[in-house]
Order: sequence, then C-alpha cells, then structure tokens
Amino acid sequence: MGEHLLEIDRLQTVFATVDGIATAVDAVSFSMEKGETLGIVGESGSGKSVTALSVMRLIRPPGKITGGVIRFDGNDLRRLPEKEMQDVRGNRISMIFQEPMTSLNPLYTIGDQIAEMFIRHQGMNQKESRLRSVDMLDRVRIPSPSKRVGEYPHQLSGGMRQRVMIAMALACDPEILIADEPTTALDVTIQAQVLDLMLRLKERVKAGILIITHDLGVVAEMAQRVVVMYAGQVVEVGDVFSIFEAPKHPYTRALLRSVPRLGERTRTGRHRLREIKGMVPSLYNLPKGCCFAPRCPDVMAICEQDPVPLVQLGGAGSGCTVRCRLWHKG
Ligand code: ADP
Ligand code: MG
Repeated sequence: MGEHLLEIDRLQTVFATVDGIATAVDAVSFSMEKGETLGIVGESGSGKSVTALSVMRLIRPPGKITGGVIRFDGNDLRRLPEKEMQDVRGNRISMIFQEPMTSLNPLYTIGDQIAEMFIRHQGMNQKESRLRSVDMLDRVRIPSPSKRVGEYPHQLSGGMRQRVMIAMALACDPEILIADEPTTALDVTIQAQVLDLMLRLKERVKAGILIITHDLGVVAEMAQRVVVMYAGQVVEVGDVFSIFEAPKHPYTRALLRSVPRLGERTRTGRHRLREIKGMVPSLYNLPKGCCFAPRCPDVMAICEQDPVPLVQLGGAGSGCTVRCRLWHKG
C-alpha cells in the first residue's frame, strides 16, 4: 500500500472538566491522499473541530491528546518537538477557522499578517513579503489589493476576512489545508464564492483539503470521500457516491434524511442539517454499547450491550469502514 498524505490512527483526545472526562475524539482513524478533498460531517459536538485541532496540535488544557498516531511525511506529529511542529503548522499544514475574527489579529494590517507567513516560513525580507501579500490578496480576488493590504481586519466584510484567512492559509503552498466550517458564518452567495475559490486554489497547489462541515451540500460539492462522526467516533467512511447513494450506517441515513434530496434546494438555497429525532448523548455519560443505539430505528439488544467495532468494507485499503452490526442490511 502506498503512503498516505495524512494517516490518523486511533486518535484519542479528552477533556478533563469538573463534570468528568469527556472523550471528544475516540479512537478516530482515517487517511487522506494527495490532492484529495476529504469531508468530515456530523452534528454539532461530534468531535470534528477537536479532531482538526488535534492534527494541528492546537489542543489546549483541559484538553489533551491521549492516544493514537498522526502520520505525516514519515513522522508522527504527536512526537514532533514543538519547534518542528511550528514549521509544519501554517506552512505544510494550514487551517482556516470558522470565525476569521478569532484568528486574525485586530492590531495588525492584513498585509502584515500575510507577510508574516512568508517571513517566518520562507525567510523573505519585508519588501518581498509585502509584494507576495498583495499577490495573495489578488489571488483570492480581493479588489484593489495594494490598497487593501494596508487595512485592518475590522475594515473588511466577513466574506473578505474569510478570503484573507484563505490567503494566509495558502501563502506557503501547504500540502494540507484544513477548513473548519469555512463558510458557516457567510451568506449563501459569498459561501459559494469561497468554496469555488478553495477548489481553484487547490488545483493550483495540489493540496489535500480536509473540509469540516455540518452542511451535506458542501460535502457533495467539494469532497471525494467522507468521514461521518458521531459522539466522538467515526461511524462511517466512504466515497461520496456510496455515502449519498448507499449509506451503511443508520446515522448517515438519518443525516441524509434530514436534508432536502440532492438537487433539491431549500428556500435559502442551502442544504441545512435539521434535527434528527432524539439527542446526541452526553460525552460524560455515553451508552455502554453503540453510541447511536438510543436513537437508532433498527436497534437490537446486543447493540445496547457491547461497543461496535469498525468493519472494513471492500477489503483492507479500500478506506471504507462502518461501525454498525447491520451494515450489510444498509
Ligand atoms: P464539533 O463536531 O461541533 O466541531 P467539537 O469537536 O468542537 O465538536 O467538540 C466535541 C466535544 O468536545 C464537545 O461537545 C465538548 O464536549 C468537548 N469539548 C470541546 N472543546 C472543549 C473544551 N474547551 N472544554 C471542554 N470540553 C470541550
Ligand atoms: Mg466545530
């Protein structure tokens, strides 16, 4: 088997709080190939962001990565000294966050913030980095980039700020771009433009994209493969066609039922995740067996007793897995 661009193997991240230990990411495994767009979907609280932040090693106390391997370019990122990790972060693996204001510094011009990426990671001087910043703003289609480069984040609209984030994330031609709900805060037209921009820039730099979203429409448009998460666990991994046309896990099916059918659009033009009956279990009080058992229409006695192992579908290396005893009935 060839080497994956990124391989996550039984990653575990916990939060120790006054309520107890929450396993936000529970033995999560998946891999990503060069140039691939991989989607992670799941309801709010299913562990998507914590998974991404773990890969970036940006988990802060009371959170901690307690298990697993994050393989990237022959290294386990978990074991990399922080100094070397700083060279990976933003340079070889970069991340776009949901709310750009939290990751842009309000005290510096956007030009200075993009230039900083070139100075820090590529050793450019002030002048060169300034030119490249204007070029990056132009590339993410910010009008009058040489004027905008001197503006502060608060002078830009939400969509513009998200473009600046993309410009920063792509400045050093990363091998992996992680986009955590990159368009959730944006309105529909801007959302479409931002996604289009990401796809086009991806073509240019051949990066792998990990796109995290609760919006299945975004997944259908962007991703080749999909990881479905529930209560901190991977419940299904498959190519986008199988996930949409022949979902194996009852949670994946419930997710799909909760949105308008593909091709159909809601009044707002978006595929929005609506409520699935029942509640996501509390991470402090997970069911003993399958986490989805309390909401599952096909639940059997054994599902409530024993945890469900992940089953490999289509043989080892296919990258398709499902965590359900009834997968073959799907
Ligand atoms: P999402 O799938 O919506 O991105 P997250 O990955 O952000 O979900 O969070 C998953 C779970 O991890 C949360 O429901 C919460 O229980 C726990 N968690 C995340 N961040 C923290 C934190 N800073 N402190 C305590 N628990 C946290
Ligand atoms: Mg999140």
